[in-house]
Amino acid sequence: MIMGSIGSNLQEVKRRMAAASASAGREAKSVTLLAVSKTFPAEAVRAAHALGQREFGENYVQEALDKIDALADLRASLEWHLIGPLQSNKTRPVAAAFDWVHSVDRLKIAERLAEQRPAAMPPLNLCLQVNISGEASKSGVLPAETLALARAVAALPAARVRLRGLMAIPEPAATLAEQRAPHRALRELLQQLNAEGLALDTLSMGMSADLEAAVLEGATLVRVGSAIFGQRG
Ligand SMILES: *Cc1c(COP(=O)(O)O)cnc(C)c1O
Repeated sequence: MIMGSIGSNLQEVKRRMAAASASAGREAKSVTLLAVSKTFPAEAVRAAHALGQREFGENYVQEALDKIDALADLRASLEWHLIGPLQSNKTRPVAAAFDWVHSVDRLKIAERLAEQRPAAMPPLNLCLQVNISGEASKSGVLPAETLALARAVAALPAARVRLRGLMAIPEPAATLAEQRAPHRALRELLQQLNAEGLALDTLSMGMSADLEAAVLEGATLVRVGSAIFGQRG
């Protein structure tokens, strides 16, 4: 990986986000860029941070904990988001190290995070990962079961965890119209939950290949890895 390209890559991703926001009639600042640094070294995160990037996403708990440790000097000025699968035996270090977890797909995980979030820290922000295409092989709660899970998670102690919204990883699709369909479905699901009285403000959707479709459908946070840091080995 060439560190020098991170700056121009970040600029290009922000240009894409701004263009999609403009065509959706949205303000550019209504969409947060989460830089997905999985498999890239701590020094790549440090380089992006030096260029002004503040939100970082990681998939693998141990790799993330090592990086968070290596970048402890920057901790007060960046946010760490766990976007990969979380097993219940790994919740304790996650509750103590992260600012967000996007991949909550069952109540037990959220309960453990709430129990284990240190009292001295601000609440851990949570998103429910939704299996928006409803495929048996994929992780995430099914759309039809999302309201019940959201209600249960929202009822956990507010000082420890805060349910912020929904996350999805749709199947890759070739055309903009095909890319938009699952993102639209996730947005409609969020609107349904809000109509049921849950106050959710986050739609975590869109990656390097489909961020325009996600922004057009209302993403508030896009998770972009390879378009910033390069292809993963
Ligand atoms: C790896 C990953 C991303 C980023 O994917 P790119 O295609 O590299 O942008 C986003 N979200 C999740 C959940 C991921 O695992």
